Amino acid sequence: MHEPVAAPPRPALALPPRPARRRGLWAGPLLLSLAFVAAVLLWLRKTEADEVDDQRAALISDALSLEAQVSGRIERESELLERLAARLPALPPDASSFAGLPDVQQGLHRFWVSITWLDASNRIVAHLPEQAPDPEATQAANRPGSGVSSHLSAAIPGGGTLVARYSSGDMLRQTVPWWLARKYDVRVVDSFGDVMASTTEALPRPGHQTHRTSLEPQLPDSYLELIARDRVTPWYRSFPMTMVAGFVALIAAMTWLLRRQVIDVSRAEKAWRTEAAWRSAMEDSLTVGLRARDLDGRILYVNRALADIVGYAPEALVGLVPPMPYWPPDAIEEIMVRHRRAMAGDAPREGYETRWLHRDGRLLDVLVFEAPLVDARGRRVGSMGSIVDITEAKRHEERERRQIESMTHHARLTMLGEVAATLAHELNQPLTAIASYNAGVLNSLQRQPAGAAIDESATDPMVLRALERVGEQAAHAGRIVQRIRQFLTRHEPQFEACSINDVIEGGVALLRRELERQRVLLEMQLDPTLPPVEADAVLVEQVVINLVRNAGDALAERGAEPRRIDVRSLRSADRRFVRIDVQDNGPGLQGRSVEALCAPFYSTKRDGMGMGLAICRSIVQAHHGAFDAAESPGGGACFSLTLPVAR
Ligand code: ADP
Repeated sequence: MHEPVAAPPRPALALPPRPARRRGLWAGPLLLSLAFVAAVLLWLRKTEADEVDDQRAALISDALSLEAQVSGRIERESELLERLAARLPALPPDASSFAGLPDVQQGLHRFWVSITWLDASNRIVAHLPEQAPDPEATQAANRPGSGVSSHLSAAIPGGGTLVARYSSGDMLRQTVPWWLARKYDVRVVDSFGDVMASTTEALPRPGHQTHRTSLEPQLPDSYLELIARDRVTPWYRSFPMTMVAGFVALIAAMTWLLRRQVIDVSRAEKAWRTEAAWRSAMEDSLTVGLRARDLDGRILYVNRALADIVGYAPEALVGLVPPMPYWPPDAIEEIMVRHRRAMAGDAPREGYETRWLHRDGRLLDVLVFEAPLVDARGRRVGSMGSIVDITEAKRHEERERRQIESMTHHARLTMLGEVAATLAHELNQPLTAIASYNAGVLNSLQRQPAGAAIDESATDPMVLRALERVGEQAAHAGRIVQRIRQFLTRHEPQFEACSINDVIEGGVALLRRELERQRVLLEMQLDPTLPPVEADAVLVEQVVINLVRNAGDALAERGAEPRRIDVRSLRSADRRFVRIDVQDNGPGLQGRSVEALCAPFYSTKRDGMGMGLAICRSIVQAHHGAFDAAESPGGGACFSLTLPVAR
């Protein structure tokens, strides 16, 4: 067993169906990626919004707690101031005893800028610190962040007021816990938004979250404002966003590559389809059958023409192994032998003829050419056969052969008739002579007087009777001959108007193969304007055939190369006749007259009968035409005949 060979790509004679939407395939991954990116973006936005909400919630809660602390601090300071005021009536009204109070010093240490004791009539009893306000200290108090100074006051029992001025900035710095100060810029602002105190000198932070709560009633017309130092990173600036942007770029590049690949593939597929369609169209339009077989003889592929030749569907043939269903059962052995030879690679290169059986039972004549089937690596993997159906050609050849046979037979019969007619004509005279001589002899014997006989036997009645018998037999023979002549000459030619060119072409066509075999070149110069002639087309055709055949024989005898016959048709000078010339470049007439050539039974050929030209001449004469032979100008013979133009 041999290694199995893969069938060619198109065993079923049909292209595979075109896959749907192959061209848009590249867009799938892109759309999925874009959907993924959109989901990530939505998630980022949501996360950002959540973060902002969380920050806001923390900010509000921090602001509220800080507000409580600040309010508590101021309240506590007010309480301390009131407690201090309550102790003042017991003190001598001078600055030194006032300065000696520990609460005063502690207050100044905290964030009081100054403390002033006013009596009931608002005159200053004592003012601490005593020194004039230091311009630097004032500056420091007014520096951004230090804020403007505020004051607290407490009524002194028994009259008078205690007033403490303090720096809002210092108050804030001492009140705000460090961790809150790291998270927020804390400011105290008035209702116009002017900053009264701040924990930082930072510039305003646009876009950062802020929250403002009122400090009333402890600090009228003041608000505590918290500004978040950290800003929630916008989703479009986040790190995942950078990753997503990179991913999108990557996907875009990959999509582009994929698209290019898909376009290339579909272009290649289109080219392949076009080529396959062309190939299949070419194979199907062939009239030559094609058949590929592997080394075991299994059919791998057949084209439409082969399927049509044998009448089976291509699918029914592919895969079959010998003996094939189209082998005639009585020739399987013989075909098998040839098949083995073909499989061994010994099939004749020039092809061989064989007989196959059509599915409907008809016998087919086919011409098979086998060639080795080689694969891409050059290995012989089977054989490729081209099959030509020659049934019709063979039938045509057979028909032609039969036609020529019957024509030859017909010509022989005509010749035989002519021979018989000639014989009858020729025998008529001797028979008549025999009869007259016999009658003369009989008369002279019968006239001799009885008894005056010189010779007894001369008057012998037996002799007389014998002579009478001879006369009777001669007359009988004459009658038979006469009857034969009448019988043979009873068929008058069937005259009718016919085209002489058609007659010539018909006759020459029958000789074509013979002339080809003799390697004779036949040229025709037929005048297409010739009028119809009055003739028996069958007889005239016989004349043309005879003349052309004689010319061919003359050329073959001589062996002259190149062998050439010219057949011409033309109108005679007086325009009443049409002339046909058959001219060759053979040995010519060699001094023989047309009379000599046309004499019955004159032939120079080994198996010639010598009646051809005689018959030709009598046919032409029966048509009231003339028959002639002459030497042609370039050597060779030229036989001519004329036929009358039809009236
Ligand atoms: P056959 O062909 O039987 O010999 P034909 O009557 O046709 O009888 O021819 C008689 C003879 O005339 C031939 O044997 C041949 O010698 C001669 N002949 C006929 N045609 C030609 C020709 N074209 N050239 C030379 N000789 C010819």
